[in-house]
Amino acid sequence: MNTVFLNGEFINREEAKVAIEDRGYQFGDGIYEVIRVYSGKTFTMKEHMERLYQSADKMKLTIPYELDELTGVIHELIKANSIQDGSVYLQVTRGVAPRQHNFPSSEIKGSVVAYANEVPRPLQQMQDGVTAKLVEDIRWLRCDIKSLNLLGNLLAKEEAVSEGHYEAILHRGDTVTEGSASNAFIIKNDEIVTHPATNLILNGITRRVIQDICKRNGMSFQEKSFSVDEVLDADELFIASTTSEVMPVVKIDDKEIGNGKPGSVTKKLQELFEERINKG
Ligand SMILES: *Cc1c(COP(=O)(O)O)cnc(C)c1O
Repeated sequence: MNTVFLNGEFINREEAKVAIEDRGYQFGDGIYEVIRVYSGKTFTMKEHMERLYQSADKMKLTIPYELDELTGVIHELIKANSIQDGSVYLQVTRGVAPRQHNFPSSEIKGSVVAYANEVPRPLQQMQDGVTAKLVEDIRWLRCDIKSLNLLGNLLAKEEAVSEGHYEAILHRGDTVTEGSASNAFIIKNDEIVTHPATNLILNGITRRVIQDICKRNGMSFQEKSFSVDEVLDADELFIASTTSEVMPVVKIDDKEIGNGKPGSVTKKLQELFEERINKG
């Protein structure tokens, strides 16, 4: 039996049904977060919850619960489902109303869904590295919102995965932005570089943890945009997200990165990230 949260109630997963006129279903008019659970404890929960409320503000969506209440819901789901290593998915939509593009009256309450799953860590891939495909970034210009509207991301990911890759790395013209569901980093001469946190990327919580790890350990971390050629010429390349953690990319399209194996700086970051996880 699996317990989920739907609009104020904890119910069986099979009983959780949403309305056909939910704006999340019809328009992707909502936001979400994925929060990692390690050994039964949440990782960077506060940062995820704050970002959820920031995404809501950016699209004028009112979340019908206080941050503390939603945090309690997440803890309850982890407990009720005895999650050890897994993740919690949380989404808020603008609610159920007759279909029209403009927002419904403020009396319509947002719909909130949350559930938890056991999800193994991608340990083998983290050790061996993965491959990626460069794909044109065709998404809209508010990628800083973690919105349910993911069609641009899905098309890119599908193109990469159908050709045997783990992830699509997106570029707007010559500028590399991020992965389809992760942030992208290159390493050149021991300097770690990632796209600045502008409207063109989603500022990942994992990205911020890596930034903090670099600061505390005297590793050079630069937020500046880089080109497709700089990726091809990088010493190391990795992506990062809640589910992928620090994931080495050893080949992009047909080009091996470095010697085609996870590099030393990426491995150092993996070790330090592991320490962070263990600290809880
Ligand atoms: C969620 C997401 C990320 C990674 O964010 P984390 O908070 O580290 O999981 C990066 N890019 C996109 C497009 C995302 O949706």
